[in-house]
Amino acid sequence: MTTIKQNDLIDSIADSLQFISYYHPQDFIQAINTAYEMEESKAAKDAMAQILVNSRMCAEGHRPICQDTGIVTVFIKVGMEVKWDAECSLEEMINIGVRRAYNHPDNKLRASILADPAGTRKNTGDNTPAVIHMEIVTGNQVEVQVAAKGGGSEAKSKFVMLNPSDDIVEWAVKTVPTMGAGWCPPGMLGIGIGGTAEKAMIMAKSALMEPIDIQQLKARGAQSTAEELRLEIYKRVNELGIGAQGLGGLTTVLDVKVKDYPTHAANKPVAMIPNCAATRHAHFVLDGKGPALQKPPNLDDWPAITWDVGASAKRINLDTVTAKDIQQWQLGETLLLSGKMLTGRDAAHKRLQQMLDNNEPLPEGVQFKNRFIYYVGPVDPVRSEIIGPAGPTTATRMDKFTETMLAKTGLIGMIGKAERGAIAIEAIKKHQAVYLMAVGGAAYLVSKAITAAKIIAFPELGMEAIHEFEVKDMPVTVAVDVMGNAIHQTGPKEWQQIILKKSNAQ
Ligand code: SF4
Repeated sequence: MTTIKQNDLIDSIADSLQFISYYHPQDFIQAINTAYEMEESKAAKDAMAQILVNSRMCAEGHRPICQDTGIVTVFIKVGMEVKWDAECSLEEMINIGVRRAYNHPDNKLRASILADPAGTRKNTGDNTPAVIHMEIVTGNQVEVQVAAKGGGSEAKSKFVMLNPSDDIVEWAVKTVPTMGAGWCPPGMLGIGIGGTAEKAMIMAKSALMEPIDIQQLKARGAQSTAEELRLEIYKRVNELGIGAQGLGGLTTVLDVKVKDYPTHAANKPVAMIPNCAATRHAHFVLDGKGPALQKPPNLDDWPAITWDVGASAKRINLDTVTAKDIQQWQLGETLLLSGKMLTGRDAAHKRLQQMLDNNEPLPEGVQFKNRFIYYVGPVDPVRSEIIGPAGPTTATRMDKFTETMLAKTGLIGMIGKAERGAIAIEAIKKHQAVYLMAVGGAAYLVSKAITAAKIIAFPELGMEAIHEFEVKDMPVTVAVDVMGNAIHQTGPKEWQQIILKKSNAQ
């Protein structure tokens, strides 16, 4: 019998969550660096360079890889010979660890969890509760896998109940393009096959905790149906040409993980969950000898990549730019933005829309004429920071507000992550506006371009409040131009053809 103390679990959970907020797993760094080196699409290579530079900065600065510091997901296996020296339940111990990690004074993480999800959606303030999957197993130790899963990638999770004769590869290849780029590729796909609906989803999520090893699998060859599926889906999805951030390129997925379980003769449940550029998970084992703390990696393991677009990019002064100027901006062009911009995401847009619909004046200082809005929910600053990590959030969630914002406020542009949907593109074209894309998963790097920040409206919305940012050389790409051309449509199409030609030539 092993005795595990309450504080050993709490300390280990808190330590692992702090650790994964700023250290990417080594296998992920190696895989993305290999993809970066192989990439031939300039836009995708650029995006991966930003992700790698951001990763190193976070490892050095101990600040979050992404402004979305995730929803905590824990897989815990408790040995039957374990005795607890604890007053709290297992669930309470884990949540104390989460609370402590997310409120760490040196590296405060963003509170993103909302209670009453179908109603008031009130922030719990400390990122609790975690989503916990418990299992009782044989043995005398406690094995824990902790992940901080990004909301953007979680939003693209898929489930289907296929007919037994249906082809899983075809379903995956047809489904990945429908996920757009809001899951911040390149990343991983976790696939769960079999069991029941909920079993397939849990397997898909737990598959994402496994190390990236597709190249080793390729070298040794598949030895099971699950491994055959991994190789086939990996190949076919990368042939889609979606690329990093959906800009078109050679690598969309770094690995595909498959878990399976026996199922009913009438069913073929399949779940697919992507993991993003902010892949964050840690594992530890408690054996009664104290907390299991993570070992810091060697920073030399990060590739020595520098990213400097200074010479080739167009510099834009946001304080003087006009609706006429933006007509000249070319699709795919890199811009370096300087000057003032406003921020806003889901909750702020909902309020702005209500005010505009009711012909109410907008809050003082919220003036959009000839200005840009940045879709972001930043991490709070610590120490002397102006703002914490502040990368873009998924722009499609703001699509339904775009027509009103462009028609009624004089806004001329938006900055966000990934593609825009049809209604937003139509509004952009109609109002001759633009949509600019920043790299998702490069949040700390982006925050270094912010030279001043203040909340100017809706402070009660926390990270969703409207801020005014002053930026200096913030890098963005023209993703939808004034004509309504969209790089997330043209890029993948072009790269799918290039990849096809390459494979025909082999
Ligand atoms: S990398 Fe993208 S999907 Fe992942 S947490 Fe950050 S913004 Fe969300």
